[in-house]
Amino acid sequence: MSTTFDVINPANEKVFSTLEEADVAQTDLVIAKAAKAFQTWRDVTPGDRANLLRRFSSLVTSHREELAQIEINNSGHTRGNALWEADNVANVLNYYAGAPERLYGKQIPVGGGIDITFKEPIGVVGIIVPWNFPMPIAGWGFAAALASGNTVVLKPAELTPLTAIRLAEIALEAGIPEGVFNVIVGKGSVVGNRFVTNPTVRKISFTGSTAVGKSIMAGCADQVKRVTLELGGKSANVIFADSDVDLAAASAPGAVFDNSGQDCCARSRILVQESIFDRFMAGFEKGVKEFRVEDPNLDSSQMGPLISKKQLETVQSFLGDQDDQVAFTGSAPVGPGYWMPPTVLLPKSVNARTWRKEIFGPVVSVLTFKDEAEAIELANASQYGLSGSIWTNNMGRAIRVSRAIESGNLSVNSHSSVRFWTPFGGFKQSGLGRALGPDALDAYTETKNVFFSA
Ligand code: NAD
Repeated sequence: MSTTFDVINPANEKVFSTLEEADVAQTDLVIAKAAKAFQTWRDVTPGDRANLLRRFSSLVTSHREELAQIEINNSGHTRGNALWEADNVANVLNYYAGAPERLYGKQIPVGGGIDITFKEPIGVVGIIVPWNFPMPIAGWGFAAALASGNTVVLKPAELTPLTAIRLAEIALEAGIPEGVFNVIVGKGSVVGNRFVTNPTVRKISFTGSTAVGKSIMAGCADQVKRVTLELGGKSANVIFADSDVDLAAASAPGAVFDNSGQDCCARSRILVQESIFDRFMAGFEKGVKEFRVEDPNLDSSQMGPLISKKQLETVQSFLGDQDDQVAFTGSAPVGPGYWMPPTVLLPKSVNARTWRKEIFGPVVSVLTFKDEAEAIELANASQYGLSGSIWTNNMGRAIRVSRAIESGNLSVNSHSSVRFWTPFGGFKQSGLGRALGPDALDAYTETKNVFFSA
């Protein structure tokens, strides 16, 4: 008997879709279909594969409004973000449409013949996606995987399956052959776990919590299955006295409260040099109070609700500790929906759990530092190393600090960290391997070395 589950709009708590979840047997059938499709997809000529991906990209662009509206309803993302996310899928597909014709190997000088390396596809790739950025994270995986000649089984998060389902339909419409890109809806412990245990799946690309990522890595060890992990973060926003302090303060709310703080790159630890603390906090408070938390359908909305009641309760459980003082909060709508105001904490020390743990909600902690050495030490005192920002107008300091912080994606005098043509991924327990940019193709190919005796 099939099991169904409801998809809920987090802005009003109304059920707006009911879906069936797959079991292990259904998952195995889809994996087998992807394995069969791999036999022909891997041999589609580079030019034809590139054209199919370009067509897929342009159809995503034609459906951007529709995809964005699904995401607003399903995830509570602001209209501005949801449109950016649909466009990001199209851009990433277009970028990787350039890959099939450029998957170069090497010709390495040897005696007695010729030595050539090839970038071979891996086979069926299992992509497991979290709920916080359903469209981009799915796209970062499937675009690079398909371009490299793999076929894909993709499991969206239980809370946010709708855009992935629609993207698979659009892929078919674009002419991507049946069985090449498959979306399977179901529980992580059932469908996601089957990707790990079914030997026909040759690689897992997982984005989600560090705890689940560790269990997936352990599961993959059994078959020496390839694995890429994009995990949690607790990124530092480091503001030196020699920076444009007003700009740093004005941009700090967006750097942590975008997507309601449910962002692996959220700058949720702010480190401010002691001498500018008061000036920074005055500007930051103004920005937080002005941050528009409202109906995500409005063009003006900067932050919507949290994804679920459970997530709201988890985030709120971090508040009220003896170790923290609330500096100030912003505002949020009242009534139905999983709303919460942006909240700024002053922890008593680095031992506060709000300073150490990933909260994944609209909560940020602020601490001070004396000098450059202490700033680096505090920024690096985390199990994570995903993202971060450094504010300084001293060029030497910008170079020293950006080299010293143990993190995969840093930004100096801005908060941008994700561009589809540059690599993205984490140091330490924030992950393994890289998505996006040229590097992602290494994660979806095997290097084969062939010596031709002559
Ligand atoms: P999660 O780990 O609970 O779930 C992620 C996905 O894994 C979901 O699809 C889920 O169904 C599946 N899953 C759960 N248990 C599984 C199992 N045993 N086997 C296989 N699959 C399983 O994470 P979440 O709550 O959806 O997302 C939030 C987390 O994701 C945060 O920690 C955040 O930092 C992280 N994240 C990281 C990045 C990054 O790029 N580094 C990006 C976005 C989110």
